[in-house]
Amino acid sequence: MKAFEFYNPTQLIFGKGQLEALKREVPKYGKRVLLVYGGGSIKRSGLYDNVISLLGEIGTEVTELAGVEPNPRLSTVHKGVELCKTHQIDLVLAVGGGSVLDCSKAIAVGAKYDGDMWDFAERKAAPKAALPLGTVLTMAATGSEMNAGSVITNEKTQEKLGWGSVYAFPAFSILDPVNTYSLPRDQTVYGIVDMMSHTLEHYFHLESNTPVQLGWCETILRTVMDAAPGLVNDLENYELRETIMYCGTMALNGFLNMGLTGDWATHNIEHAVSAVYDIPHGGGLAILFPNWMKHNLHVKPERFKQLAVNVFHVNPEGKSDEEVALEGIQALRDFWNSIGAPSRLADYDIDASKIDVMADKAVKFGAFGGFNKLNREDVVEIYNASL
Ligand code: NAP
Ligand code: FE
Repeated sequence: MKAFEFYNPTQLIFGKGQLEALKREVPKYGKRVLLVYGGGSIKRSGLYDNVISLLGEIGTEVTELAGVEPNPRLSTVHKGVELCKTHQIDLVLAVGGGSVLDCSKAIAVGAKYDGDMWDFAERKAAPKAALPLGTVLTMAATGSEMNAGSVITNEKTQEKLGWGSVYAFPAFSILDPVNTYSLPRDQTVYGIVDMMSHTLEHYFHLESNTPVQLGWCETILRTVMDAAPGLVNDLENYELRETIMYCGTMALNGFLNMGLTGDWATHNIEHAVSAVYDIPHGGGLAILFPNWMKHNLHVKPERFKQLAVNVFHVNPEGKSDEEVALEGIQALRDFWNSIGAPSRLADYDIDASKIDVMADKAVKFGAFGGFNKLNREDVVEIYNASL
């Protein structure tokens, strides 16, 4: 392991009926709340009414920012920052999926910064303060509910950049699996692909002596794969929603990467695709991850073999490490296909015409990847293999 410090201040409030905790938590931060949500799913599901009614019981003054886009836009962040400043907001309350949470994180740091929050994404400045943030999660996928990361799209420059700061951890996050019942099948699948991808980003690391971390990753992958097929055919199954929601949080709240760096190249390569084509993040990952794996198999074939044997139950007898590894990669592709994830860029009508544009975006900050440094040529190869 490498030397590490672990810090995660988010209070996780998990389970059926936990929305009530809003009445206990919100007053700790003040009276004026900016309620941030997306394109209307929380109004259709009734969650909006429940939140408003609980906030009403404790006399909260609510200002609203509605319409946060999937792949949230910088212009929406700016609107939220403006509202925070005008209404002297005490707490940002995000109710939605990863996009609403990420946008709210950017608003929370932007409200305490004199310049443009985009400076943080550009690595030109680092946040020094933030408004407190609470979240009510409606989609299991990103882990944003218990981590310090956020991904924002600058629609003017067509860039989608991740940034992070200790100030961006939510103070509390309420996770009731029932609030994910209304999530449609396709979004449920994207979330499953995203949490499996986060686990895989951790799994491919170069640090030695990480048996616990590898074992945790394998457990999460097997658990998600056991639950997913049942869930996509039974979207209101409480136990399956609960399992998937817990896995989504655990896959990216810092537990899996204690003492190791992880890779994260596939996320970077995907962000460049969704910056240009505005496709769902999980859909992009399903297309790209198996091709990243094939491209990097040579770096440490035994890690790919371990994945194949321990997670995909490939029988290694009489086969080379590489053969076993390739069977594992195919099994991952087959699994994602079986639950309805896309497998080629063509599934989103993406052809080769903008590969150069996307590759330039992916290498904006230079070569990247903790398991294997990728340069522009590698990225182009992975895009070409994904057409
Ligand atoms: P999302 O973009 O937040 O939501 C996708 C869609 O699902 C939206 O149309 C949303 O509708 C709908 N939805 C959400 N909850 C619903 C529910 N309970 N019922 C019905 N519809 C619901 O999806 P996401 O995958 O959670 O977030 C994706 C973003 O997070 C991407 O920008 C990705 O790059 C980023 N990301 C962040 C991290 C991180 O650590 N911060 C990690 C990975 C990815 P409404 O808008 O109407 O609510
Ligand atoms: Fe992700």
